[in-house]
Amino acid sequence: MNNRIFENDLYLPALYLISINDGNINTSELSRLLREILKPSGDDLELLTRRNDDYFSQIVRNLTAKTRSFVQNGFIDRDSKSGSNLFITDKGRQYLFEHRFELNYLLSNDFEYGDIKENLKIIESKERKIQPFDENIVISEGLKKFTEVAIYERSKKLRDFAIDYFSVGNKISCNCCSFNFSDFYGEEIGKGFIEIHHTKPIFTYEDEDLQNTLAEAVKNLIPVCSNCHRMIHRNWKKPLEIQNLIASINTFGTYHWTAK
Ligand SMILES: [Zn+2]
Ligand SMILES: [Zn+2]
Repeated sequence: MNNRIFENDLYLPALYLISINDGNINTSELSRLLREILKPSGDDLELLTRRNDDYFSQIVRNLTAKTRSFVQNGFIDRDSKSGSNLFITDKGRQYLFEHRFELNYLLSNDFEYGDIKENLKIIESKERKIQPFDENIVISEGLKKFTEVAIYERSKKLRDFAIDYFSVGNKISCNCCSFNFSDFYGEEIGKGFIEIHHTKPIFTYEDEDLQNTLAEAVKNLIPVCSNCHRMIHRNWKKPLEIQNLIASINTFGTYHWTAK
């Protein structure tokens, strides 16, 4: 199967895990942590004949083997005594630093394994420089100072584009429960406020026309109110499907309230 995960696809998440556990991690621990953050599924979990583990474990074992490119290219070192503990090298740190935003974006948004895998393949192919979009950076003021200006600006463009795209008669409402901040809190406080949920990771490529990227990207976004957004991510390991949330709202959503 050519859609399986390969050793190269694991460079970035593996370097991240080795760097935060530098010298105190071995291959089986790395394998366990990689499973925890990537949540592999499908063919990658296929059991290997005559072995008591699966394809994913095999790939991680190959990745950290002395003779393979991850070690040979100098991204990590192995303990000279025990041979089993893994260390990150300066070259590994450099690689991690260069791709920190992609990694952060992929791992912090609870995307489906298939999407993460696909994007790790693109990052590893190095054919084009890719940059993440995350308009939530604009909302989270605290994150601004840790974020490159370029990402901030792209994110703002995406947010503006999405608000424009999803607005009906100059108003933008939650696409799950129809809550409208402007109607409820008044225009002065609530006008234009909305959160945006990503159903797929969104990257842009250096050589791409931004207007085209935005038109494509907006298909993987859903404007939601803050309550619905929290419900979607309540289980941080598995975001709710929008259709399920809408079905629940249709069954139970009869909340009436008058402010004091
Ligand atoms: Zn809502
Ligand atoms: Zn979300």
